[in-house]
Amino acid sequence: MKYIDEFRDGDLARGLAAAIRAGTEATREYRFMEFCGGHTHAISRYGIIDLLPESVRLIHGPGCPVCVLPIGRIDQAVRLAVERGVILATYGDTLRVPASHLLSLLRAKALGADVRMVYSTTDALCVARTHPDREVVFLAIGFETTTPPTAAAVLKARDEGLGNFSILCDHVLTPAAMHAILAAPDGVALDGFVGPAHVSTVIGSAPYETFADVYGKPVVIAGFEPLDVMRAIHMLILQVNAGRAAVENEFTRAVTREGNRKAQALMAQVFELRDDFEWRGLGTIPHSALRLRAEFCDFDAELRFDVRYQPVPDNKACACGEILRGIKRPQDCRIFGTACTPENPIGSCMVSSEGACAAHYTYGRFREAAA
Ligand code: SF4
Repeated sequence: MKYIDEFRDGDLARGLAAAIRAGTEATREYRFMEFCGGHTHAISRYGIIDLLPESVRLIHGPGCPVCVLPIGRIDQAVRLAVERGVILATYGDTLRVPASHLLSLLRAKALGADVRMVYSTTDALCVARTHPDREVVFLAIGFETTTPPTAAAVLKARDEGLGNFSILCDHVLTPAAMHAILAAPDGVALDGFVGPAHVSTVIGSAPYETFADVYGKPVVIAGFEPLDVMRAIHMLILQVNAGRAAVENEFTRAVTREGNRKAQALMAQVFELRDDFEWRGLGTIPHSALRLRAEFCDFDAELRFDVRYQPVPDNKACACGEILRGIKRPQDCRIFGTACTPENPIGSCMVSSEGACAAHYTYGRFREAAA
């Protein structure tokens, strides 16, 4: 298949691996964070780490949408479904994120709450149209990739006069999280970023320039196929060796410097910055998430149902916070693969296939056990 087969070619991968080995300097370590959960999944799935020399270390970042949602945000959705009796619609992975009181949206559904999995905002609107006598809340999560469809759904609901539809807005912003990682006084030491693929198709490459210019960290935007990731790693190594810090774009088949202006305009029309937002693992980050603009407040479920955010500490045994900051690996968590598995996740990083723990469990832990 075009754009797939040529980016999974084994011979090319071996050639790239040789170029990476030849390009690394023996006296130093290269620590690159792959921000995006899609890259974390690809790295585990295709065994990319096995092709890299020991001096190249890949550090998982916080770019998995369900992983960074703190418990209190899931609690809000559970309260809407259980206490307010709304139809709560959201994407599949979000259903299994652990909430307070041993609940999740899926467990709330098992107890009788009307929770529905949808594949798109169009589906959520359809639920609202089909049940005009019920309140329908769409739990809107994700980075800049999933934000434009939510904005389009709000505009559609307004235009149709769909008064029983609202959203619980948990959309978050990639550059703000990257700032938080680089600015953290006790943060992980990094030599550069493998930049997100889908997010960058929307925001473009320009927003990353500050990380090169201000923090001196190279960023190479990469596609999701294994050769994309390996080529990005090679490009990062060449920058580090040359003492350069620039934004480079490996994913030129989909990403431009400007990004998708239409999608950006849609987001700007419907959303504005929250003053601050608590992320799992990263703490409260100013201007790192979105809320509906005042003119769309009728569609804001937080206001309509008065469900305020209450912070809740993570399970004490769970190391998701440190993993999302890049200072621990999944196998450093003492309940990884025992009490916490994809079938019974204790923390959010074990829920989605993009979560570091789920990816490592699915593709990596058996290799480690055998080593
Ligand atoms: S293994 Fe489970 S409990 Fe441990 S850090 Fe990962 S998600 Fe959290």
